[in-house]
Parts: sequence; C-alpha cells; structure tokens
Amino acid sequence: MPNRSNSFDVAVVGAGAIGLAVAWRAAQRGLSVVVLERAAEIGKGTTPVAAGMIAPISEALATERPLTRLGLASARAYPDFVAELTDVSGADTGYLNCGTLFAARDPDEAEALLRELALRERLGLPAHRLRPSEARRLEPALAPTLRLGLEIPDDHAIEPRKLTAALGRAVATTGAELRMSVTVDRLTIEADQVTGVELADGQRVSAEHVVMAAGVWTHTVTGLPEEARVPIHPVKGQILRLHDPNGPGLLTRALRVTGAYLVPRGDGRYVLGATMEERGFDTTVTAGGAFELLRNAFEVLPSITELVIDELSAGLRPATPDNAPAIGPGAVRGLHWATGHFRHGILLTPVTAQIVVAGLTGEDPGELAADFDPTRFSGVPVAA
Ligand SMILES: Cc1cc2nc3c(=O)[nH]c(=O)nc-3n(C[C@H](O)[C@H](O)[C@H](O)COP(=O)(O)OP(=O)(O)OC[C@H]3O[C@@H](n4cnc5c(N)ncnc54)[C@H](O)[C@@H]3O)c2cc1C
Repeated sequence: MPNRSNSFDVAVVGAGAIGLAVAWRAAQRGLSVVVLERAAEIGKGTTPVAAGMIAPISEALATERPLTRLGLASARAYPDFVAELTDVSGADTGYLNCGTLFAARDPDEAEALLRELALRERLGLPAHRLRPSEARRLEPALAPTLRLGLEIPDDHAIEPRKLTAALGRAVATTGAELRMSVTVDRLTIEADQVTGVELADGQRVSAEHVVMAAGVWTHTVTGLPEEARVPIHPVKGQILRLHDPNGPGLLTRALRVTGAYLVPRGDGRYVLGATMEERGFDTTVTAGGAFELLRNAFEVLPSITELVIDELSAGLRPATPDNAPAIGPGAVRGLHWATGHFRHGILLTPVTAQIVVAGLTGEDPGELAADFDPTRFSGVPVAA
C-alpha cells in the first residue's frame, strides 16, 4: 500500500532506462514504488549516451547464446512495450524499424561476414548475403569499393533520451514517486532482510525490496555483505551525434562496419558509435576517438563528411566479469539487481523489467532468467 511517510514496497536506486522500466512495471502491479535518483533530472547516466540499437541478431555471438536468447525475447517484447508506453505517456520514443546492413571493405572483412552469416543460419536468425551491387541498390550512398554486404532485416532502434522521458511520464501516471537529487549511500539490512536505504543526507527510506539499478555506479552503494555484491566495471564509449542538412535519406538502415556503426533516426539525424575503451570512470572525448569512428564510417559511406556534428560525448557501459547482466533477486532477502547491462541495456529494458517484477511479486521469472542470476558472482545461494 502507498504510504507517504517514507515507507514503500519497493525502492529503485537509479532512474536510467532500466530503473524507470522496473518502477513502471512494478507500480502497474500495485506495488508502492519510489525511484531514488541522485541527478536533478532523469536520464543523466549512461542511457542518454547510448545509440539505442535493438539489435540482438546483429550482435549475436557464438559464445553468448543465453544473452542472444534474452536479447531476442526483449526485442520481441519491444513493439507492445513501446505501444503501451506511448499510450500512457503520450510521448514518442523514436522507435524505428530500420534493419541493419553490415558492410565489408576488403577480402578479410568479407570472409568474416560470411562467418557471421553462417552463425545466424545455424541459429535460425534471418540474415541475407548481399552482393556489392545489391547492397548499393538498397543503400545508394555506400562506397563503390564495398566488397560484400549482409542484411539483417529484423533489427530495430529507439532513441534512448525519448525512451527515458516517456518512461518518466509513465512512472508518474502510476502514482509511483520519482525523487530526484537524492543519493543513496547505503543499503540497510536487519536480520538478513533488506529494510530500505539510507540517503547521503542521513534520511532513511524504508522498503521491503530494494532494486539496484544504478548502472556503472552500483558499487557506490555500501552496506551489502561482500559476498552479495555484483562486480561492475566501466567500459567507455565515445559516440557522435550528427545531422544531414539536406534532410533524411542518406542511409535508411543501421550500417555496421568493423570499428563503427551509424544508426539513422529516420529524420536526417544519425548516431555514429562507438569506441570501446578500458579507462575507468574517464568520460573525456578525444580527437582520436572521433577520428577512428569517422574514418571507419567514411570508408563505406564517403558522404558522411557532409553531415553536421551536433555532439561528441562519452558514456560508461556497466560491465560484469562475464559481460552478461545481473537480473533478479540477490543473496540477501529483499535485494534485487537490475544492472550490468554492458552494451545491451536499451535492448534489454523490457525483459529486465519483466524478470525483476517477477522476483518482486514472487512469480516464476521463466527459464530465460536463470543464466543472469546475480548470485552467480558470489556463489552464495539466495536467502530463503
Ligand atoms: C556509447 C554507448 C553506446 C551504447 N549503445 C547501446 C545500444 O545501441 N543499444 C543498447 O541496448 N545499449 C547500448 N549501450 C548500453 C546502454 O547505454 C546501457 O547498458 C544502459 O544505458 C544502462 O542503463 P541503466 O539504467 O542500467 O544505467 P544508467 O542509465 O547509467 O542509469 C543509472 C542511474 O543511476 C543513478 N545513480 C547512480 N548511483 C546512484 C546513487 N548512489 N543514488 C541514486 N542514484 C544513483 C545515475 O545517476 C543514473 O541516472 C550503449 C552504451 C554506450 C556508452
């Protein structure tokens, strides 16, 4: 039951895409929810930096089958998720059915693309080989030097900044409370049961369940037993936002080449990403980072030089030791994790909310969830 005196069923730490989606879905189930966010506005963490690709087929790796299955489930959930979100929030999310085109620049890259095609055929995922002329018929701006193309028709994209704005509004419609400019310092635990959190100003918020959705800053919340923690480290990504002064049409599909991708927004805006750098919490942007991305994209899309640069930014992907997220109940009763989404947090938003809410309501989260059990990092069983 909602209680204005600082006591809730669920306290969610962090108002990124993940925390907001969990809060929205939990409140829809009748739980009283508070979201605690240290920034003055929502969407100030990694989420607003992301390109927003919903691309489990493009990103499928032979070594990450469970993650591919989870990504596919989330991508399947996206159309209904977005339709409902748009309906309750009245806000557009920039969801775009664009598909992806992989481009190979030389014989080595062409050979690598054929291996990518073979993997997708083994997994039963739709992907089509394209001769250079076929690829250029689909995307006429591609360089004539292109060696081979691979089309993935079922990938989508969304605008993460619009997604968080819509989620913020959706949360508000449920009666859940969004508290901004509050930093969670410590989890409070009594008799092996979470009792809530303590804020940086000393105030306490009582909650039967605490959902850790603080992304790459998860470690800043103290009070957890060492064996109950999920180790997260930052992987920096630099990314450019550009627009075409001539309007849309230069590129209609997301374009991938070794070392870069370019995602169209459908209206002449593009996102060019992204570097992968192990540099701790550094978010400086560098000439080298921008150069690397532009050079790789230029080699397959020469007219990228005509685009106007609107923004160069850097974000920190929250990575776990096995590059897979931690989703669901943790090693202390009442503690739940929704973090470690690394390169896939936008893709995995709907399915993460679904699994976490199952944990909050005591329902079966389904088979898919087993591989992402947060307790795999501690070896400590979830307290009964
Ligand atoms: C360059 C780049 C490109 C990417 N592209 C894609 C993509 O195309 N597709 C995709 O699926 N994913 C992509 N990602 C990954 C995606 O951005 C992340 O996985 C996702 O945004 C993580 O969301 P989150 O809600 O967990 O974290 P965040 O968005 O970081 O939210 C965490 C929130 O917690 C708050 N917080 C932290 N500590 C505290 C505290 N102690 N108290 C209160 N609040 C706190 C923060 O202020 C923040 O608002 C990309 C990432 C980068 C960097």
